[in-house]
Amino acid sequence: MSQQNEVTQDNVDQWIQWMQQHLPRFQVCFKDESRLQRLIGWLLWPINRTYMTEYTTVMFGKIYFPSREEIESWGPAQVYAILRHEFVHLMDAKRFPVWFELSYLLLFPAGLTLRAYWEWRGYTQTLLVEHELYGTISDDIQEHILRRFVNSEYGWMFPFPNWLRRKMRKLCQSIEAGEVTGPYPYKEWGRETPPLRGV
Ligand SMILES: [Zn+2]
Repeated sequence: MSQQNEVTQDNVDQWIQWMQQHLPRFQVCFKDESRLQRLIGWLLWPINRTYMTEYTTVMFGKIYFPSREEIESWGPAQVYAILRHEFVHLMDAKRFPVWFELSYLLLFPAGLTLRAYWEWRGYTQTLLVEHELYGTISDDIQEHILRRFVNSEYGWMFPFPNWLRRKMRKLCQSIEAGEVTGPYPYKEWGRETPPLRGV
């Protein structure tokens, strides 16, 4: 097992500032403080009762957490991991605007496969953060991520769990070997990011 680190509120704040250098319109917002999000929550109520209280949503280049109290209970490590994942989506949306939007909207197999491609890039960050925090990547988190790809909650975006499990094991080995690093699939950016503190 390699080094373990902890995430402080300072790390979260530094990371948000760093994100804003690459995404000048980026802001952290809270659903309970947004009139539009309250309206969406009300419209979604019949099909999703936890949109306002549990879900983090990215919209208009901003991130909406449920509420200040809710993320207080999550703690800085979870907030940081979510921000690292969503940063990839926001950067991809900026770099590939048409493809990114279409693949989230279109409900046909090509759209689903493309969506799985973007999510794979996002979840690579989730796995990297896990490794940075604990020095290892548990089977539990790999299975948890795998279910997101193959289950209905994201519309069965990838229907081949065994293939994906093997691919994920390989990715985790590459992360543990230090071959996959950085906050976005451009390695040079890794050097600019604020470091976490060892524990
Ligand atoms: Zn995602």
